[in-house]
Amino acid sequence: MKDTKICQTCKKPMEYRKKWRNNWDDVKYCGEKCRRNKNAKSIEGARTVKKSN
Ligand SMILES: [Zn+2]
Repeated sequence: MKDTKICQTCKKPMEYRKKWRNNWDDVKYCGEKCRRNKNAKSIEGARTVKKSN
């Protein structure tokens, strides 16, 4: 069984890295970019923007 995960943001498979050995279970993003962009797009049930005009 391969240690791979799918990045929550870019949906790309990412392979296990040594630096993640201590928190592999918590890894959800392939990098800082994706971690910060986690809310950028592809969020289901996004808030409905209220148009108050
Ligand atoms: Zn990513």
